[in-house]
Amino acid sequence: ELILAFETSCDETSVAVVENGNRILSNFVATQIKSHQRFGGVVPEVASRHHIEEITIGIQKALIEAQVTPAELTAVAVTYGPGLVGSLLIGVTAAKTFAFAHELPLIPVNHMAGHIYAARYVEPLVFPLLALLVSGGHTQIVYMKAANEFEIIGDTRDDAAGEAYDKVGRVLGIAYPAGKELDRLAHLGQDTFKFPRAMIHEANYDFSFSGLKSAFINTVHNADQRGETLNRENLAASFQASVVDVLVGKVIAAVQRYPVQQLVLAGGVAANHGLREALSEQLPKVVPNTRLVAAPLALCGDNAAMVGAAAHVALAQGVRADMTLNADPSLEFPWAAGVEA
Ligand code: ATP
Ligand code: MG
Ligand code: FE
Repeated sequence: ELILAFETSCDETSVAVVENGNRILSNFVATQIKSHQRFGGVVPEVASRHHIEEITIGIQKALIEAQVTPAELTAVAVTYGPGLVGSLLIGVTAAKTFAFAHELPLIPVNHMAGHIYAARYVEPLVFPLLALLVSGGHTQIVYMKAANEFEIIGDTRDDAAGEAYDKVGRVLGIAYPAGKELDRLAHLGQDTFKFPRAMIHEANYDFSFSGLKSAFINTVHNADQRGETLNRENLAASFQASVVDVLVGKVIAAVQRYPVQQLVLAGGVAANHGLREALSEQLPKVVPNTRLVAAPLALCGDNAAMVGAAAHVALAQGVRADMTLNADPSLEFPWAAGVEA
């Protein structure tokens, strides 16, 4: 089985060829970071234009690198939400056109499901499982009773973890997206500022990062007004320690309540070294029967290989879209439930 997968939900144009949902034959990713950096964030109109320029090149490169012809493909898959509507529409239109022209089935994929299924490149998923989804737009703990069944048991009340990284990084003059550089700085510093750990003792699996963001920004601004310059490494380390403590604390509580064999760590922020290290150290101590399955570093950020992995499962379940498939910028997992710990 060979799936041609498309991902254009934000600022990465990606096309991949995936075999049986667990082997990458090609994974073309064109990032637009440079074009958005001077604006400090993604400019939707700019993103759409880049996707238009890159998408056909992406299809060609993905097929050539995989050494696969359209006739050999089993299906076409595409992220149809959540994300920026203009960006999503380029991928959806390209996928529909390709599927129609080559008479292939079309599989609609939820971008966040794609992030979770990136873990299939590490090992097969075993259900039920829990996933900690941490990205630029989401911070959720998801319970999957079975393949393609998603229950959100915890969510952020305000900012997503990645969003907090990007906003805090901006205050330190770090270019968008700031997560990777803050992560690097954090490893050179100490948690000297002791920022708040929001909601850490509350009896739920929800998160809040806006208070931490404000505490960080106020600390930097107050120092500026006094004419002081604070240690960047310590600021980064303190911020990261707070984020990691809360994420790890809440997800370990969730694993205690929902016994599972696997805890999947996925999304752009799953690339964070502090988070990966803290989880792999603490999880076995508290819940030795739960294994951490972190998405491969190279597949934490947006890419089409993860879409191909999710599509493999959807294909087997008979999930199909027709030519009326549209982008759904605010697509959510089928159902969400507020859960008390
Ligand atoms: P969503 O997946 O919620 O739709 P998105 O697709 O924009 O949002 P991703 O591409 O999954 O988000 O992740 C990007 C985010 O990951 C950015 O906020 C970036 O700063 C963050 N990030 C990347 N690497 C790291 C890291 N090492 N540490 C912390 N954050 C990181
Ligand atoms: Mg991105
Ligand atoms: Fe994403």
